[in-house]
Amino acid sequence: MKFSEQLQATDLCVKCGLCLPHCPTYGLSQNEADSPRGRINLMQGLMQGIMHESATARSHLESCLQCRACEAVCPSKVPFGHLMDITRAELIPPQGAPRLAEQLLQRPMLKAGVALGGQGVRALGLQRPLSHWPSLAPLRLMGIAPPKAQAESDADVFLFTGCTASVFDGEALQATKRILEALGLKLSIPKHDLCCGALHQHAGRAAQAVQQQAEVQASLQGFEGAVLALNSGCGATLTEYSRVTSPWADRVVDLPTLLLKQKLSALAWRADPVRVAVHTPCTQRNVLKSHAATLALLAQLPGVGIVPLAENDRCCGAAGTHMLTHKQQAEALLSPKLDALEDAKVDILVTANIGCALHFQQGLAKRRQELPVVHIASFIGSRLPEA
Ligand code: SF4
Ligand code: SF4
Repeated sequence: MKFSEQLQATDLCVKCGLCLPHCPTYGLSQNEADSPRGRINLMQGLMQGIMHESATARSHLESCLQCRACEAVCPSKVPFGHLMDITRAELIPPQGAPRLAEQLLQRPMLKAGVALGGQGVRALGLQRPLSHWPSLAPLRLMGIAPPKAQAESDADVFLFTGCTASVFDGEALQATKRILEALGLKLSIPKHDLCCGALHQHAGRAAQAVQQQAEVQASLQGFEGAVLALNSGCGATLTEYSRVTSPWADRVVDLPTLLLKQKLSALAWRADPVRVAVHTPCTQRNVLKSHAATLALLAQLPGVGIVPLAENDRCCGAAGTHMLTHKQQAEALLSPKLDALEDAKVDILVTANIGCALHFQQGLAKRRQELPVVHIASFIGSRLPEA
């Protein structure tokens, strides 16, 4: 279908404004052009030639977090996330080379340098461009290698390692392997990192995203089991991609959904008390809709007390590369969450998104607020006694 036909879905919007109170960027600026309805008006104006592309129009469209909170509450079912992807690809196409954040995830040399930690970053002369990247805990996590590749023809689970987790969160991947093997599940782990294409897709680089998704498709050829995406952003992208194009539709799962189907009581869990706050990534809340599964899973673990976190229904501002490209907006969105965390008096914050975890770590470090932030896989792994 041509992009102009796809953009016709903007006509579904009846301009009721019910989405406005749920939009984080509108909440910050109170500017209609930063709201879902305002952005749909901009899309329509550009598409119909009533408006021409300008720096102003581009900035209102690019400042959207693609959190899809608007889509989740829209009574007319406007497919806002898809519309914004097409808009960025066709109406305000990316200018120049991919940004550093995107390049970093695509170029093995850069990735290898970053994976070495501070030394590698210095060797590649990346200190200045990477100065906006969260810089404390990630360097600790970068020291933990992801699990080695393993091919099992009759595996139960294909572990989708993703392009970021292998560099930034080897700990979560190792923990996942340990938990699933303790439960008797057989894993298949790909030889090289696969990318779901989300970063490119949301940045308007549709051709690259399609190519990456085709590579995923090829890697899964003939595989019959569950496809486990640890990162909620990868999970959301693969779920939607698989529903339109592939025979593995509805086999993409996240860790809580997968674990809830297992006999968890068969394992000897630690029972010492721990107070846990859960940050729900937008992709988990608005696309995968598995927040309840996360809470249900944690509630089954002995000693785990879940502390409700205020502001948990809003984007934290990480939003893929948004925390790097729109730093001020990202920090403003994170701030009330850090306040809520301070009041909650918890021992640990868990989340299912590596980007959100990095953003929280950065914000907490800046405030000198001490709190471990880990992927839910790492937390669950830590509740199993050491082997
Ligand atoms: S996007 Fe949906 S909720 Fe928002 S103004 Fe349009 S119809 Fe209403
Ligand atoms: S995707 Fe999020 S930031 Fe963008 S318009 Fe919708 S609610 Fe606002």
